[in-house]
Amino acid sequence: MKNTFLIFIVLFELLMISCVQQNQKPVEKAVAKAEWAIVIHGGAGKINPDDFTAEKEKACREKLTEALETGGNILKSGGTSLDAVEATIRILEDSPLFNAGKGAVFNADGQNELDAAIMDGKTMKAGAVANVKTIKNPISAARKVMENSPHVMLIKEGAEKFASEQGLEIVDPSWFFTQERWDALQKARLRELEQKPDETKKGGTVGAVALDKSGNLAAGTSTGGMTNKKYGRVGDSPIIGAGTYANNATCGISATGHGEYFITNVVAYDISARMQYLGESLDNAANYVVNSKLKSQNASGGLVAMDKNGNISMPFNSDGMFRGFLKAKEKPQVYIFKEE
Ligand code: ASP
Repeated sequence: MKNTFLIFIVLFELLMISCVQQNQKPVEKAVAKAEWAIVIHGGAGKINPDDFTAEKEKACREKLTEALETGGNILKSGGTSLDAVEATIRILEDSPLFNAGKGAVFNADGQNELDAAIMDGKTMKAGAVANVKTIKNPISAARKVMENSPHVMLIKEGAEKFASEQGLEIVDPSWFFTQERWDALQKARLRELEQKPDETKKGGTVGAVALDKSGNLAAGTSTGGMTNKKYGRVGDSPIIGAGTYANNATCGISATGHGEYFITNVVAYDISARMQYLGESLDNAANYVVNSKLKSQNASGGLVAMDKNGNISMPFNSDGMFRGFLKAKEKPQVYIFKEE
């Protein structure tokens, strides 16, 4: 009888312990993994509703939507995140609306010097070109460097020679001329002469991060840099870990903003590292870096980011950022200003 009572007590205790343990289990939110997803940006900066005509705003939104749908169609039909990122960025490079490819800004010498990078989160391989003047689509050159050379970055004439050998389209530097960007350079030069802060300083940049059906992340960025930049200046976009990064274990990132700060803060890698080492969520890590760390240094800009589950974060600390995303079975979402 005494033994039966003891067994009963022990079983009762075990039952209670198991109940307590169950209650202590953290409540896990069921986060559905996106089948595929793509997020893009067309640059961050002084982007306010008053600076836009209705037509220009419409044109920007339509181009961002077209870019998203181009990448989305590739992902939907089982294409790779690398293909989606490259094709999406090519659409934005070919548009004069954004500061990359055809819409690139001018440097202090009145030239367009372009930078781009791409990274594969599956293999951790990357490719980049910097300071190129004749490659029509620098993002494709970056991909060729990644896939068909033993290197990560090629610059200037060397990169151009390689791109031409790889069969990419080479154009005369004048192909990148647009009146709007030329006028922006003249304004910037004037302000420099008057020793006034250059509030018109236009950056821009385009970028994309995609997750494909196989669960692979890729990220890419392409830019003309910053108006009136010194000849030979290279920004963060083609620097792996600064403006561009992808790692299947953490996230893919494409940044835009005052490149020097993005380089010194190793922004894209910092976000990935916070996720990896501190266990932070994508959104917490990205927001901390953009809205706390960079902001405290007066470093203006933003980024688009995606984790391995297709969660998206698009923080920026500037007035606005051209941005948007598209997920499987959803409609494209496109935004420009802060308040929307
Ligand atoms: N990050 C680019 C650069 O510094 C410019 C920009 O995104 O606005 O070259």
